[in-house]
Amino acid sequence: MSSSQIDPVTALIHHPYAPPAGFAAPQPGTFKASTVIFPNVAAMRARNWKEKSGYTYGLHGTPSTFLLEERLCALEGGLQCLLAPSGLAAIATVALGLLRTGDEVLIPDNAYGPNKALAEGELAAWGITHRLYDAMDPADLAARISARTRLVWLEAPGSVTMEFPDLPELVRVCRARGVTTALDNTWGAGLAFQPFDLGGDGTRGLGVDISVHALTKYPSGGGDVLMGSVITRDEALHLKLKLSHMRLGVGVGANDVEAVLRSLPSMALRYRAHDAVARELALWCAQQPPFVQVLHPALPGAPGHDHWRHLCAPGLAAGLFSVIIDPRFTSSQVDAFCDALRLFKLGYSWGGPMSLVVPYDLASMRNPWPARVRRGTLVRFSIGLENAADLRDDLQQALRAALA
Ligand SMILES: *Cc1c(COP(=O)(O)O)cnc(C)c1O
Repeated sequence: MSSSQIDPVTALIHHPYAPPAGFAAPQPGTFKASTVIFPNVAAMRARNWKEKSGYTYGLHGTPSTFLLEERLCALEGGLQCLLAPSGLAAIATVALGLLRTGDEVLIPDNAYGPNKALAEGELAAWGITHRLYDAMDPADLAARISARTRLVWLEAPGSVTMEFPDLPELVRVCRARGVTTALDNTWGAGLAFQPFDLGGDGTRGLGVDISVHALTKYPSGGGDVLMGSVITRDEALHLKLKLSHMRLGVGVGANDVEAVLRSLPSMALRYRAHDAVARELALWCAQQPPFVQVLHPALPGAPGHDHWRHLCAPGLAAGLFSVIIDPRFTSSQVDAFCDALRLFKLGYSWGGPMSLVVPYDLASMRNPWPARVRRGTLVRFSIGLENAADLRDDLQQALRAALA
């Protein structure tokens, strides 16, 4: 069919193109597709969504998504990866893939809040029960595992209160009982420790079964992308999750994949920069009388500091910490402190260039009040990439304005 015989509109749609061969650049090309074209019917019938040897439909993978999956596996030490449209969607993919009516899932008491909300909502409605365990007490986890326990969530450190658990020991407890473990690895990001090699000896003798990562945070690094990943090292487990992932229609947009691929190469440098300034400010905060406790796992005396020191050798941490404000200050004084900050913006999430602050009502999130956390009002800071002295001055002026 020559283009002279067909309408220009048709010719435009069928204008031939081939992906460039022999073209190389630092960044990969971006491939956008819902439809994927097959060379003939036999190829269409032969292709299998389970394999990465060919493409079937944009939802099941493109060269862009496959490349991001492979790079994330390289980062976290995994073998297979699924991408989801948010970190929470990645968490939900694991839950919906592995849990059925009558099953039970165990969740740390200090887990990312929406993980608990999913269990209280959809999972409960489908007859899947959940129990919370004390993440700082492996014996408590062991006591709660029952014949119905199909999945144990892990998180290091805990959300908001930042207690660092004995992660290798928690995994040992689950392994001894044959229960699948899924780690929310957003904080560690594949940099602070290796989720599939918790023994740190390169043998992969001890590791989680599943690592979930909110790519929204450090892999994006811009505060402008929502995405999540589910990484495994077991083909059968991966295919089980992939089947649910496919049936649920979970996928990601090519532009977002492009943004994450662009940001990944600088992630290790950014992580160290966030970490260095967060630690400097956490130490400074520890000297300010209105802050009765600073919750940062790298600070000696912080809950689980020794566990952090053992696992995260030679000592990396994300750019997050919380402070407990003296209970003599009212909640409106604490709100005024947050409002008085100029560089720290009020907003959820973290991992981008801008520092953020959120006051939390810990009493409504944790019942009973966490044993290792002093009484008071919790405020969480996520440190961006600003100059450390500017951020310290901002904290100082807000303290003077609201908590004098
Ligand atoms: C942000 C976050 C998530 C969820 O990621 P979204 O992309 O915002 O859905 C999950 N776990 C942790 C620990 C997070 O910080």
